[in-house]
Amino acid sequence: METSAATQQPMAGGNKTSAEQTYLRAELEERRERLQAALQSPAADASLSQLLTAVDSALNRIAQGTFGLCETCHESIEAERLLADPLVRFCLDHLTGTERRALENDLSLAASIQRALLPKPGLAPTGWNVRYDYQPAGIVSGDYCDLFEVGSGMLLMLGDVSGKGVAASMLMSHLHATFRSLAEAGLPLEHMVDSANRIFCESSLAGQFATLVVGRFDHDGSVEFVNAGHLPVLHIHDDGVTPKDSTGVPLGMFCNTRFTVHRLALAHGDTLFLYTDGLTEARNRDGSEYGLDRIRTLAAQHSGLEPAGLISESLHDLMKFQEGLKPTDDLTLLAIRRADRTIGARRKQQWKS
Ligand SMILES: [Zn+2]
Repeated sequence: METSAATQQPMAGGNKTSAEQTYLRAELEERRERLQAALQSPAADASLSQLLTAVDSALNRIAQGTFGLCETCHESIEAERLLADPLVRFCLDHLTGTERRALENDLSLAASIQRALLPKPGLAPTGWNVRYDYQPAGIVSGDYCDLFEVGSGMLLMLGDVSGKGVAASMLMSHLHATFRSLAEAGLPLEHMVDSANRIFCESSLAGQFATLVVGRFDHDGSVEFVNAGHLPVLHIHDDGVTPKDSTGVPLGMFCNTRFTVHRLALAHGDTLFLYTDGLTEARNRDGSEYGLDRIRTLAAQHSGLEPAGLISESLHDLMKFQEGLKPTDDLTLLAIRRADRTIGARRKQQWKS
């Protein structure tokens, strides 16, 4: 999601009065005191005095108004990196070879952790046919996608965390863990989302939030879901496509808010189609957006398709629209279809025989 969290703003070097710099100066001063105390010990490691020099030099940069500027290009260093490590002196484009290799290793580790959090591709819940496609724009993604069986059905989550890159992917992992834990408590859907919202709100920074659809799908075709500030869910049925709009604010925006639950009974062959803004906000060479209308029209044209076919038609249409442009945002598509009655009956027959 392109929304800018407070921490995503560039931290201009000359802006000495910013709240971030006041915070970072206090952090650096505390580190200096701790380093000085540690250096009193005869067993102190030699690297500690190098760190003390680095801390002093960062404090000097704050005093001189050059803090937060890359020493190579003099542009602002990424704000979230400065908050994580106030000693950084170069922007991402101007890291040393060693720094770059360390960062690449960290990123590929983060990416493999994230891949392991995705639902298993062959998942075949009773009575449903489901497929998803998850494409990070970079190495890691801020999109959240999960699906697992509970009691008499399954839970499905699809959302988009504010910001991009590693910070967004960490928030995504946090949401994943929260919903996995809450699911075990067997709460009604609205209570589960209320609790997840409070946990997310209390543990994330201002400006960090997630748009999200959380759904519970029963074997008998009944579905309930909350759409917290996310794009419309498309209900594809015999008579066309009905969008189910968001009925609330994103998760993590207000600690005390209620989420309305949509209830639906899906007929055999009905599909719910979910997606992130990597689809709707994708742009072509003229700068126009792919948009909601296009996806709605496409869904109506392919209403008879199974989820795998619907997803591949959508990706094909998006590629055609983008005319070879590289995607700039994370993209997730998910389609879930209530299995045809005949297939369901045939499966039951097979079980019996
Ligand atoms: Zn630079």
